[in-house]
Amino acid sequence: MTSSRESVYENKMERTVVQTKPKTSEALMEIELGNCRYVRVTPWKDSLRIDIREWENGKPTKIGVSLTLSRWLTFCDAIEELEKALRSGKIDVRCHLGGNVFATVSNGYRCVNIRQFFKPESQELTATRKGIALRLCEWNTLVEYLPSINFAIPNIDTILPCHMQPDHSSVQGALMCSECNPNGF
Ligand SMILES: [Zn+2]
Repeated sequence: MTSSRESVYENKMERTVVQTKPKTSEALMEIELGNCRYVRVTPWKDSLRIDIREWENGKPTKIGVSLTLSRWLTFCDAIEELEKALRSGKIDVRCHLGGNVFATVSNGYRCVNIRQFFKPESQELTATRKGIALRLCEWNTLVEYLPSINFAIPNIDTILPCHMQPDHSSVQGALMCSECNPNGF
């Protein structure tokens, strides 16, 4: 039998529990990058998405990016190029992941930005605040665990990134795609 005094105590305990980690229930897999940042493979619509994000008290913050499988696979293909830029510290690299999302390394900065850009009418592509800048140690952990992350994605070998779809083999096809050519160049 639970006395009312005990239940009050239990309720109080529940309220004071501080969650330091995201709730893992819906994630197929989760990697901690450090600094409260996580890579999580989670169900999304009829597919999966890869969320790279900073968490606070068990809740997702706005610092982060969610990649569709197409964008994630494109990102995986770009890792070597991003690594090279990161190690040299002397070059700018901007890899298009899809839509207006780019992974970039800027000359002189030891971090990788995965970020939403936007293109104002007849102006240059501009970075927005939506995204995450991965520090070198976080990046190294991400690269180290890449095989485990990809292992959690069922039938990953059969998934083609958008830019490799058969209807993109002609220039026309790729130009018509809002994912690959979002600003209608
Ligand atoms: Zn496309």
